[in-house]
Amino acid sequence: MKLDHTNAGLATRKLQGGWTCLFLRKFKHTAHMEEIRAEGVTKRFGNVTALNHVSLEIAPGELFFLLGGSGCGKTTLLRCIAGLETPTEGKVFFGERDVTQLPTHKREAAMVFQSYALWPHMTVGQNIAFGLEERKVPKNEIKRRVDEALAMVKLEGFTKRGIDQMSGGQQQRVSLARALVVRPKCLLLDEPLSNLDAQLRLEMRSEIRRIVKENDLTGVYVTHDQAEALSMADRMAVMDQGVVVQVGPPEEIYRQPISSYVAGFIGETNLIKGTALEGPKVETPTATLVSTSSIEGWSPPPGAPVILSIRPEAIEIVNPAEATLSGKIIERIYLGSIIQYTVELGDGSVMQVTEQNPQIIRSPGEETVGLKISRKDITLLER
Ligand code: ATP
Repeated sequence: MKLDHTNAGLATRKLQGGWTCLFLRKFKHTAHMEEIRAEGVTKRFGNVTALNHVSLEIAPGELFFLLGGSGCGKTTLLRCIAGLETPTEGKVFFGERDVTQLPTHKREAAMVFQSYALWPHMTVGQNIAFGLEERKVPKNEIKRRVDEALAMVKLEGFTKRGIDQMSGGQQQRVSLARALVVRPKCLLLDEPLSNLDAQLRLEMRSEIRRIVKENDLTGVYVTHDQAEALSMADRMAVMDQGVVVQVGPPEEIYRQPISSYVAGFIGETNLIKGTALEGPKVETPTATLVSTSSIEGWSPPPGAPVILSIRPEAIEIVNPAEATLSGKIIERIYLGSIIQYTVELGDGSVMQVTEQNPQIIRSPGEETVGLKISRKDITLLER
């Protein structure tokens, strides 16, 4: 049974008593949210394998990000989910429905593009109504739903405006409204904020998250921008060469990356090559460091080549006598709330160090500084 979204909201508000409300909320959610599942999806374009046996489960109502370097396959995966590409092998499910061969408009998913893909000669209202007219929805219902969609993106009253009279940010809201007006269960977003300036991007991050959550949508979002992903995602998948290499919530991907690729891709990090000693100890060119394994239960055999990942903000500048490593500051960038130092170690390698709320501004020069890093912040990775 499908419960109308608006009615469900009303019913919830009219009823008194926590238990009944909770039941209705749950009921409302299960009626609208949809799980998205990729099972062994491979996509080949001639001899290029864009996706190589990708399996993913995106929970109902989740805002899920696909991240990775250029050409890793994230857009192809999103397009397979949207029905704009057909997998060479494997299946895509929406809930229990196998949608692999289903055309886009039958999937109850709507896509938002980087380019907005709006018609410049039409008004805001005409752009949003287009999908409903195609579906032969009656005129008075179209009007109601266009107004409803505009309210969701906070553009009430803009129906008659020409697209060319809207700012970049407003155009992106219109493209969101056009996606929402068909009442999709899944919202698929392909770098939706890339064409906006820095300030608007920040504003739209929370707007898109609000829209996904308020409308009980399952969202899949492709981006290059790791800050966007860290700040918005419930969970994310990091991809490399057509393969999903790690899936998890932002804090897990950031704090426990399973490879130097993931560590380097999400946030800044210092990567130090070394050789495994006994237990968690690693010999590096300048010191023996005690590390924490990135994968529970995994430790490399002594003599194995390994890599250590240390985030710049996990390093404290201290007196050399109390330090884990020592070196000389060779560069400083003062940014007000933080200061970034480049420190050269004894073997000529460099470490990036970030200090929050800097009280002392150190100058590049001859003085030796100590770097203190706690063991939990030295992540041991396979090389
Ligand atoms: P970007 O961040 O640069 O957009 P991406 O991670 O989204 O990259 P995809 O666009 O999915 O990567 O492309 C994955 C691989 O598949 C690339 O090598 C790309 O050149 C190739 N590819 C994608 N679409 C096609 C196509 N229609 N025909 C041929 N090759 C394609």
